[in-house]
Amino acid sequence: MGLVVQKYGGSSVADAEGIKRVAKRIVEAKKNGNQVVAVVSAMGDTTDELIDLAEQVSPMPAGRELDMLLTAGERISMALLAMAIKNLGHEAQSFTGSQAGVITDSVHNKARIIDVTPGRIKTSVDEGNIAIVAGFQGVSQDSKDITTLGRGGSDTTAVALAAALDADVCEIYTDVDGVFTADPRVVSKAKKIDWISFEDMLELAANGSKVLLHRCVEYARRYNIPIHVRSSFSGLQGTWVSSEPIEQGDKQVEQAIISGVAHDTSEAKITVVGVPDKPGEAATIFRTIADAEINIDMIVQNVSAASTGLTDISFTLPKSEGRKAIDALEKNRSGIGFESLRYDDQIGKIALVGAGMKTNPGVTADFFKALSDAGVNIELISTSEIRISVVTRKDDVNEAVRAVHTAFGLDSESDEAVVYGGTGR
Ligand code: ASP
Ligand code: MG
Repeated sequence: MGLVVQKYGGSSVADAEGIKRVAKRIVEAKKNGNQVVAVVSAMGDTTDELIDLAEQVSPMPAGRELDMLLTAGERISMALLAMAIKNLGHEAQSFTGSQAGVITDSVHNKARIIDVTPGRIKTSVDEGNIAIVAGFQGVSQDSKDITTLGRGGSDTTAVALAAALDADVCEIYTDVDGVFTADPRVVSKAKKIDWISFEDMLELAANGSKVLLHRCVEYARRYNIPIHVRSSFSGLQGTWVSSEPIEQGDKQVEQAIISGVAHDTSEAKITVVGVPDKPGEAATIFRTIADAEINIDMIVQNVSAASTGLTDISFTLPKSEGRKAIDALEKNRSGIGFESLRYDDQIGKIALVGAGMKTNPGVTADFFKALSDAGVNIELISTSEIRISVVTRKDDVNEAVRAVHTAFGLDSESDEAVVYGGTGR
């Protein structure tokens, strides 16, 4: 007998019908002889609606109270799911994150899990119950207040519980059939990936792929928990994310040269214009940004004009942090000594990911060729061992993703990718 942790996203439990469908799936897993722990997200767009509501009563809701409010979303779905399972004649108990032993730091709205003590869950499944756990939430070790893990955090709850319970697999049920070679909403010929390594998946997630959260994959890699991403709307095999290639039937799935193309239009670019080209300048700029607790992504420094000895430094960051970054730099203007700041939120990022590029020298050239054939202008470039990414105009992104996808032979010949649900969460 195995222990399975399953996670169902908001689009899978969007209404009563969805909850009944998910209940049947969970019961199937139990009937197959497994102990089952199911982690749920809030129904449909509940979390967004609760945030809207909060903003209607206060433009800047207090973090502690916002967490109290948002965790109610998952409480609704967990209780309804337990009821639906009981109605099918099986025993189920629902638990909040706190009851399930999800212990976090005390950073409201984006807490990190620091420990999981799933004693009550263990007891519940040992007694024969199906345990249902509210995703995306925990309790602060210090303040004992309720916390949330950041948007999409239920995936992380599921992987963390799977690790703490020493589960055999963590199944993430979503509204697409698995991880695709590109976002199927943009590339209709995107292909489902059978297996992908933790490393490649981390790069895809860091570069805009929304199917799995970066933090969740990081956790899974650290504890070596295989993740199976699949649709709750179909019975198909999904994508396995694990350290070693899986076997399927009698054939071994091969490591692909290129795993996929990710894109992201949620970033902006700041250019610090007219910076003196002398040691310490970059350090001061990025210290200023770091002190404002802003994570940056790509950086580029231009050559300085010989006549002025001044240079420009550009970097990208989440749009949501744009205001904060500009304010922080302006405040330290005399310390840094720049001429002006330019803010551009009409950019997009495209990343090609695959461990095979380490040993295939033509990949970079082919990537740039595909972009130039599509008439896409490149503004910034950054690479790692297993990724090349570029920044372009936002309006060019979809076209660029499709061009690169085709150029690397990733287009599927047969079926078009199916997107069953709404938001992809
Ligand atoms: N309900 C939360 C959200 O929408 C958590 C999740 O879906 O994973 O972000
Ligand atoms: Mg959700």
